[in-house]
Amino acid sequence: MSGEREIPAEDSIKVVCRFRPLNDSEEKAGSKFVVKFPSGSDDNCISIAIFFLLQGKVYLFDKVFKPNATQEKVYNEAAKSIVSDVLAGYNGTIFAYGQTSSGKTHTMEGVIGDPQKQGIIPRIVNDIFNHIYAMEENLEFHIKVSYFEIYMDKIRDLLDVSKVNLSVHEDKNRVPFVKGATERFVSSPEEVFEAIEEGKSNRHIAVTNMNEHSSRSHSVFLINVKQENLENQKKLSGKLYLVDLAGSEKVSKTGAEGTVLDEAKNINKSLSALGNVISALADGNKTHIPYRDSKLTRILQESLGGNARTTIVICCSPASFNESETKSTLEFGKRAK
Ligand code: ADP
Ligand code: MG
Repeated sequence: MSGEREIPAEDSIKVVCRFRPLNDSEEKAGSKFVVKFPSGSDDNCISIAIFFLLQGKVYLFDKVFKPNATQEKVYNEAAKSIVSDVLAGYNGTIFAYGQTSSGKTHTMEGVIGDPQKQGIIPRIVNDIFNHIYAMEENLEFHIKVSYFEIYMDKIRDLLDVSKVNLSVHEDKNRVPFVKGATERFVSSPEEVFEAIEEGKSNRHIAVTNMNEHSSRSHSVFLINVKQENLENQKKLSGKLYLVDLAGSEKVSKTGAEGTVLDEAKNINKSLSALGNVISALADGNKTHIPYRDSKLTRILQESLGGNARTTIVICCSPASFNESETKSTLEFGKRAK
């Protein structure tokens, strides 16, 4: 029982772009800041932004965040509106796309518990509960979260380390879901943050190099909000997927072999499947959306397109050193418009 409004494609998919500041190693290496923003726009967030790469190419997105944009600004402009949609019974997905160290985790998660540095996920969690606390109707809420990662096309439950290879099934309405994934009931933001911390520490335990691992796996955090109006028994259910994607960088074809090459192929396959789905949705293609091409897109099926809200945050480095990756990230975002 989800919401009944039909959302037009141009409203259902939003693409925003965030540039992080040059980092120390880029500065030390003499990397230049290669992005140009429209002159006169000194605001840290530009609507319908236009900017130029060195090659003079122009890209347009729903919003572009300059390096000095705060976490709060990014949340307010890019993510906040999805909270009321989820509470109104719509599904949604927010995902961060970009090369490793472009700012995906900083954007999605940031520093949980730090009022300034917290990212989109903790802000959404706080907002959902604040909305619920402020509601005056006689509503009963059941909120549950799941947390898993997709690595080498295997789904691993981050809330139960014994579940290392979950599969995707379809329910009686043919809606895909991750069968057997832990669903944790939560009744406060603190309980959600505990689940996130638990999931992160489970992720650490299983791998030797966390940074490398996180750049090669997709992490998927799911918030499921069910509500019932106790006066008229009307039920609503909204699912929100918050996804920190694997790094989109190309692995050099000559150097990579063995596991690294297999990982790269898997990432490539799932990111291009995601790109194909988003671009088919953005084109208004209603007949064939290739959801079945990867586990990631199957899982997200019900929360991408149709009546769902999707926000893509493409994360970029502004450094000359990363220019070709930045360009391919911008091209990914462009396909979704
Ligand atoms: P990714 O998840 O894409 O690999 P991270 O989010 O881990 O990248 O970012 C890499 C580093 O850059 C981290 O130390 C992070 O804190 C920092 N960083 C990323 N984006 C910003 C930003 N907008 N402002 C300040 N620091 C940032
Ligand atoms: Mg990361």
